[in-house]
Amino acid sequence: MSNLTTLTSALRQAGMRITPQRVAICELLAASGEHPTAAMIYEELKPRFASLSLATVYNTLDALVGLGVVNALGHAGDDKVHYDADTEPHVNLACISCSRIVDIPSEHVTHLDSEITAASGYKLLGARVLYYGLCPDCQKKQKKATRK
Ligand SMILES: [Zn+2]
Repeated sequence: MSNLTTLTSALRQAGMRITPQRVAICELLAASGEHPTAAMIYEELKPRFASLSLATVYNTLDALVGLGVVNALGHAGDDKVHYDADTEPHVNLACISCSRIVDIPSEHVTHLDSEITAASGYKLLGARVLYYGLCPDCQKKQKKATRK
């Protein structure tokens, strides 16, 4: 898990100014298990920072992704990029109905990393393992809907 210090020092290394807004974005990412989108981060922080712009959220996220401390996940059926500050190998499972993304720790992903490193000689910087499906709640809703 990338913690707040990892995120802010990565930004500093990239030569970005550490503004209270950027710290708040990092804080939110480090604390969130929600895999927020840029819009979600913006909505959440806007009440605290009247001058915050969506562009600031995006350029901060882009920088963090470029530095390898945050992963940009694909969309979860909602056409929006979700962000994940947990860069340890794990599986993301997205519900295509409610767009919720959960983390699934998996031994296999860790093994896969070593396998890929051994086979390619690459220094791996991150990975995206994203599965799609219907969460248990949405499956229940679907069953109810078909029963009508
Ligand atoms: Zn769902």
